[in-house]
Amino acid sequence: MAIDPQFHENREKLDTHEGHDVWGPVDEPEKLGIHGTHVAVDFDLCIADGACLEDCPVDVFEWVDTPDHPESEKKADPANEAQCIDCMLCVDVCPVDAIDVDAGRA
Ligand code: SF4
Repeated sequence: MAIDPQFHENREKLDTHEGHDVWGPVDEPEKLGIHGTHVAVDFDLCIADGACLEDCPVDVFEWVDTPDHPESEKKADPANEAQCIDCMLCVDVCPVDAIDVDAGRA
């Protein structure tokens, strides 16, 4: 399963976290939703592989701790999504297709 690229139509914006949107459903600690809008990471798919943090040329991602989440204890948070240059590297390297980038969605 990959992140839903239509999440902004199919999900409800619940909250903001460190300046970016959070899209539900959220039921912590097991269900964390999607973080970000221009650069969106499905926290419920993220396995903390880390390739996006390593490869992003403008350091959009930062680790955030997510204890007791079934997939991983930390997530790649698009903390600096406004810096994104739409190179699509993160989308290509994510092994579980947890990231979607769409400049038109910002
Ligand atoms: S598309 Fe490129 S610049 Fe934007 S978050 Fe992904 S790796 Fe970083």
